[in-house]
Amino acid sequence: MTTYYVNDNPQNTPSKEHEVHTAGCSWLSLATNKSYLGEFSSCKEAVAAAKRKYSSVDGCKHCSPACHTR
Ligand SMILES: [Zn+2]
Repeated sequence: MTTYYVNDNPQNTPSKEHEVHTAGCSWLSLATNKSYLGEFSSCKEAVAAAKRKYSSVDGCKHCSPACHTR
């Protein structure tokens, strides 16, 4: 299981997605505001959890490339 967080600040892109990161991602450490999502076996579950909070969500291309779609 991996611990996931979502960036509370949207990306500076037209789709304004909130990126999902693993706890150890160096990009997560750059996020000034983040929310704990929980422990999941895959980034897909973490993205689903983040979508309960934000409608526009994407996986980080560095730590969750399987869920990076934009
Ligand atoms: Zn990341």
